[in-house]
Amino acid sequence: IPVDEEETGDAFRIARGINYVVHQLDEQEKWRQVMMEDLAHELRTPLMLVSNQIEAIADGIFEPDHIRLEKILRDISRLTRLVGDIERIIQAQSARFELRLEAIDVVPVIKQAVASLEEACRAKNMSIELITPKIPCPILVDVDKMTQVFVNIVYNAIKYTHASGKIEIITDHDRDSGQIIVHVKDNGVGISQEELPRIFERFYRIDKTQSREAGGSGLGLTITKRLIESHDGKIGVTSKPGVGSVFTVMIPAASV
Ligand code: ADP
Repeated sequence: IPVDEEETGDAFRIARGINYVVHQLDEQEKWRQVMMEDLAHELRTPLMLVSNQIEAIADGIFEPDHIRLEKILRDISRLTRLVGDIERIIQAQSARFELRLEAIDVVPVIKQAVASLEEACRAKNMSIELITPKIPCPILVDVDKMTQVFVNIVYNAIKYTHASGKIEIITDHDRDSGQIIVHVKDNGVGISQEELPRIFERFYRIDKTQSREAGGSGLGLTITKRLIESHDGKIGVTSKPGVGSVFTVMIPAASV
């Protein structure tokens, strides 16, 4: 049979395309499955705690006093937060996930994120210093989603730093690589070398009690990483236990 090179080439490209799509779908399906298992596991524990306590009250073992009810409410709000995080992660993963891109300087985006954390900062008497370059730092981003990225990173810096700690946010425009770079530096508890690569995993928390007390679900950095990647950006981290951490976000500079 004479082989038409052109046609074979096209057929090959199409087959490769289909293969790629099937592979992507497979990956998504696998991701969904693992996610559901993790989810069931994460929800079961706090649900059991709440229902045990209510049962104990119903059985007359405990008085339904103020303290006990407050504790139940706290557990329920933790569950609510978890469900909110899950919604956001599913949204970030979904194919329907749409970005409303806008050209904007990174500095006002960071300022907005910091402003929304004012209360948390004040509660721990922390200071945030923003250091910006003289040149513009234009990015093409979904402003709401990029604000969420910086809220997550800076809020972690607040959560995992002792009271009166210091956070520095340094922005830069690296013209050689065409990247806008943001470092969020804290002088907090830090992260060990072994834990570092794992913190972006779903539900991963180093100290579960500390994270839970701080209101953490272990989903924040997973969402953050996905949001950054959907903008063709990257996130990295360096850290030293007892000294502090530096989270670095890189986003392609927009041409203006
Ligand atoms: P969480 O909701 O628990 O804060 P994240 O996904 O945001 O979850 O972070 C995962 C884990 O990474 C946290 O539980 C914490 O142990 C660690 N971590 C994140 N940011 C910092 C930081 N700035 N300093 C120290 N540890 C951090």
